[in-house]
Amino acid sequence: MEKEQTVLIIGGGLSGLLTAWRCVVQNKNLNVTIIEQSSKLGGDHTWSFNRSDICPEHQVWIEPLIAYEWPQYQVRFPKRNRVLDIPYCTTNSPTLMRCIEPYISAGRINTRLNISVSEFDANHVILTDGQTLEADCVLDARGFGANQNVFLAYQKFVGHTIQTKTPHGLQVPIIMDATVEQFGGYRFIYCLPFSETEILVEDTYYADDDELKAIDIDNRIKAYIANNLKISDYSLQRRETGVLPITLAVDKDYGTDTTDDGLSAVELGLRAGYYHAVTGYSFPEAVRSAVLVADLIKQNWPDFQKPLRHEMIFHKRDHFFEEKFLRLLNRMLFRAAKAEVRYKVLERFYGLRKGLIERFYQNRLTKLDKIRILSGKPPVPVTKALYNFDEKAFIKRERN
Ligand SMILES: Cc1cc2nc3c(=O)[nH]c(=O)nc-3n(C[C@H](O)[C@H](O)[C@H](O)COP(=O)(O)OP(=O)(O)OC[C@H]3O[C@@H](n4cnc5c(N)ncnc54)[C@H](O)[C@@H]3O)c2cc1C
Repeated sequence: MEKEQTVLIIGGGLSGLLTAWRCVVQNKNLNVTIIEQSSKLGGDHTWSFNRSDICPEHQVWIEPLIAYEWPQYQVRFPKRNRVLDIPYCTTNSPTLMRCIEPYISAGRINTRLNISVSEFDANHVILTDGQTLEADCVLDARGFGANQNVFLAYQKFVGHTIQTKTPHGLQVPIIMDATVEQFGGYRFIYCLPFSETEILVEDTYYADDDELKAIDIDNRIKAYIANNLKISDYSLQRRETGVLPITLAVDKDYGTDTTDDGLSAVELGLRAGYYHAVTGYSFPEAVRSAVLVADLIKQNWPDFQKPLRHEMIFHKRDHFFEEKFLRLLNRMLFRAAKAEVRYKVLERFYGLRKGLIERFYQNRLTKLDKIRILSGKPPVPVTKALYNFDEKAFIKRERN
């Protein structure tokens, strides 16, 4: 019988679980252990994405993850209302766990809960109780960590999932309702109608700082539910908060560094910077990297550790490189546009062609798309736009 190889994953969140799942499906002699500091794998989240964010080859794999799907969604701005025929999907923690649990029961994925990893390298982890675990490969999926080479703004939000007494009447998601009052940044409401009587209402702020004034936001959500959705009789089922990184700039030396010290664990998920620079969303990137890790293990079996580390270093470099234009857009939004008119940047963007909008979320914009996004009468002052154009100069100013 072929020797079993082991992978240790630090962090049982979205990227850790997707990678564990894909790896055991693809590699029958692989044993995966997930170490999660909390009492629960997968947390208590909803993760949404455009179906077109997922490439056709991975659609079949993620099918069981889709808890809800709508054929289209709306955006609302003071001067633009639009319905986009882009299928929108949501998964959540219980659905993700239903996909993983058979492999836990079969002993292919082992879990260690309520214990944190204090130190680790490419082949070892030390737990906070002092125990050392060895593996053929360690993957670091601990979620977001600040990095002095990555310059950020934030997307902050509070969401209420409510159960209404009578049908609320919303048929398709409202991805952005920016007709609401703007408070010193770009603000919009996001609504997902899970059923006729269940709806998630999220109040979101694109802001320079990461402070979340959740109580004020709770009250604004209640006001939106009453005044805009015209719902009065309901109960609160679930509340979620989030502060997501929005990348303004990445130091080139860091972003292009492909040195392999041979000692570092492979990074995944937000820890590696695998999120969409403008939205902070990471589900499509987590799918992509899970598939890549599983394929690299399979192709290089049984001595996969070195090629895996090598390829993933380049994957990370490519990701930073491919997001260069998105970071420029963020600098335009956060540093060139005046706070109270930032919504106009998005109002204009959502007037562009559907295919371009899909490619924006896929981060697969063509040269022509980029010209279309930047051309026309800009909703930002040209002098400020030019001042923030160059990433290197921006970083130099930020560091001083
Ligand atoms: C409320 C909210 C809503 C979001 N909605 C969306 C969405 O709709 N679509 C989308 O694409 N993205 C969304 N995101 C963004 C992003 O996709 C999620 O944050 C996603 O969960 C990130 O995945 P991850 O695996 O990198 O980190 P996480 O899912 O945060 O997982 C990290 C895990 O590592 C554990 N951990 C950390 N340190 C240690 C340690 N030392 N030892 C052991 N365990 C450790 C943590 O407890 C956690 O379980 C949302 C984020 C939030 C917070």
